[in-house]
Amino acid sequence: MDQPRTIAYLITPTMVSEGAGVRLQRSFGPSRANPLDPFLLFDHFAFNEPIEEALVGFPTHPHRGIETVTYMLEGEVQHKDSLGNTGLIEPGDVQWMTAGGGIMHEEMPRPSPEGKVRGFQLWVNLPASLKMSAPRYQEVKAASIPTVDLAGVRLRVVAGDAVGASGPVTEIAASPLYLDVQIEAGASFNHSIPEGHTAIAYVFEGQGLFGDPAQEVSAFTMIVFSDGNDLSVRAAPDAPLRFMLMVGAPFKEPAVPYGPFVMNTDEEIRQALADLRNGTFVK
Ligand code: FE
Repeated sequence: MDQPRTIAYLITPTMVSEGAGVRLQRSFGPSRANPLDPFLLFDHFAFNEPIEEALVGFPTHPHRGIETVTYMLEGEVQHKDSLGNTGLIEPGDVQWMTAGGGIMHEEMPRPSPEGKVRGFQLWVNLPASLKMSAPRYQEVKAASIPTVDLAGVRLRVVAGDAVGASGPVTEIAASPLYLDVQIEAGASFNHSIPEGHTAIAYVFEGQGLFGDPAQEVSAFTMIVFSDGNDLSVRAAPDAPLRFMLMVGAPFKEPAVPYGPFVMNTDEEIRQALADLRNGTFVK
């Protein structure tokens, strides 16, 4: 039986400063309460809007116990890590990094010809059994991300399955669905979502009606949906709508965040800090 998802609550992003002073619109960050399990953090970065100062980035920093997912809309991010990996994340590309037991990396933005860098970073938790696993990257070029065109709707399927397409990012513990959804003015979109999974959507262009009963939401807003198995969205009659849809299975484990680490216990955080001090952080 269909049980439509409705809007449980909305989050208005707040400006935070991270790295070497990068200003980000953060919808949520890691917390012990972990209300959006398995999702830990969602940042919308728009480095040079307005263009005010020199581009700064994220100089070398560690991660442990999580996955970070970078999705670029405009501009590029140059990436380099402690394992010798380097790469350039270009518009439309995604980098799904499983930090596992530990990496040290730097992420430095490079502007588009128009001087802009726009994109999103999502953090997804790892279950206790994988927190100390070997680091892994899935770097996917824009052309490898399937695009599905329906009546008035264009989907880019980054991870998970949607309308017969499978995203190129695979074997992620939270079995997530990560979609970039563009809906033309007046068009609508329906998608089934497993019951019990966390479902959130970040609206970053236009406005539309979400859920059933429907509620109007406009950019820039993070939507948290109630439980159910079906999601319906309709774009406003006079403007297109675009949002990132994220769905994932909660791990229901204790979350203990500390900066760029998210572990299950305080002792594991102390261990991460000791490993950093002792130079044994990266295995
Ligand atoms: Fe990072």
